[in-house]
Amino acid sequence: MIITDTHTHLYSEAFDDDRTDMIERALKEGVERFFIPAIDSTYTDAMFELERQFPGHIFLMTGLHPTHVKENYHEELAHVDDLLTQRKFYAVGEIGMDLYWDKTFIEEQREAFRYQIRLAKKYNLPIVIHCRDAFNEVFEILESENDGGLFGVFHCFTGTLAEARKAISLNMKLGIGGVVTFKNGKIDTFLDQIPLSHIVLETDSPYLAPVPFRGKRNESSYIIHVLQKLALLYGISCEEIAEITTANSKAVFGV
Ligand SMILES: [Zn+2]
Repeated sequence: MIITDTHTHLYSEAFDDDRTDMIERALKEGVERFFIPAIDSTYTDAMFELERQFPGHIFLMTGLHPTHVKENYHEELAHVDDLLTQRKFYAVGEIGMDLYWDKTFIEEQREAFRYQIRLAKKYNLPIVIHCRDAFNEVFEILESENDGGLFGVFHCFTGTLAEARKAISLNMKLGIGGVVTFKNGKIDTFLDQIPLSHIVLETDSPYLAPVPFRGKRNESSYIIHVLQKLALLYGISCEEIAEITTANSKAVFGV
């Protein structure tokens, strides 16, 4: 059984004390593929180091996270631009809009999102979308940029059934993580109406730990609890869920 964690911040400071052990724990559970979303340029070296340490298991993205769109966002976007000319990345992410924490840079967030979508299209890469309290804004931009060359993952999908269908119609897979195990997470009430071919698994470590670790630090090995919940919802085995969602991740990321 090969499990793919399509969204895990393994370079996070939250893992500074036990990073190697934590990754080994995940590998032991069958989590063999880790897709690493970027945040901003301050983490780039740490991401490269991970790749050196676990070759064949680590797949890097590049991008500027919406909550890190600040005064210096032009420099940060130039860094993303630069990295893409230098070497292979597997996606542009995570990018999108976040109006939950701060609306100060809403226009800059819009501009950065659109700019990075165009970069992804230029390099024929998927995008990985972060969307918090911003469904309308994100969909508006996706629709205007949707020209057949746009595809990717709607990371940490927590919307409604209608929003799920809309995301799928825009060539997005739904990234499903710990929220599906939450009592008030809501997506568990309709997920079985979404064909598994549209779903990939993720943890978003160190955030959003699944039950029974809710509220604690998340790590990639905990994806097993997401897997078990989906097996229950879809009425098939964990092995089948792992196989299908890993195949889906290969279709999106090309590896
Ligand atoms: Zn993330």
